[in-house]
Amino acid sequence: MTNESFEVLITAEQIEERVKELAKEISEDYKEKKPLLIGVLKGAVVFLSDLIREIDVSLEIDFMAVSSYGSDTASSGIVRIQKDLDQSIKDKDILIVEDILDTGLTLSYLFENLRSRQPNSIKVVTLLDKPERRRVEFKANYCGFEIPDRFVVGYGLDFDEKYRNLNDICILDA
Ligand code: 5GP
Repeated sequence: MTNESFEVLITAEQIEERVKELAKEISEDYKEKKPLLIGVLKGAVVFLSDLIREIDVSLEIDFMAVSSYGSDTASSGIVRIQKDLDQSIKDKDILIVEDILDTGLTLSYLFENLRSRQPNSIKVVTLLDKPERRRVEFKANYCGFEIPDRFVVGYGLDFDEKYRNLNDICILDA
């Protein structure tokens, strides 16, 4: 038995359309470059895989895994690298691909960590942004949707490792 219920916040069609728009903007901004897109595991996997197929410049991908959350929905404030990159990013044009920007703790840590490795440039694309929840100042260069302060699942986002395979982004009322 489960008491979890969903309310669709963003449909698969809306996501598809917005991903195309973001990819167009990114393709334009990186047309003279060969960006390295760094997906933040695991939540950004679905977004990254859709995004790269809409970008029409030559690119590379890599992944990092960080944790700031346990199986709880509240931020612990602690960021830990669980999987690092497979390569040096010195002189590369880095685009961090994140699922959701919430308190900002994860991305501000990751951004500073990657910046210290001397890339040529570093930007951030996030599919979702919850500006109300920010604990440290952080602004993404590209953002799919601003959403209210609700816990969402689907399109890669989980609750306790479940619901990543939903096509829509849904508010979870547990
Ligand atoms: P931040 O460090 O900005 O607080 O947290 C970013 C991370 O928290 C995201 O990558 C994601 O893993 C998790 N997170 C924040 N809000 C939500 C949410 O509404 N739903 C899910 N599934 N994860 C969230």
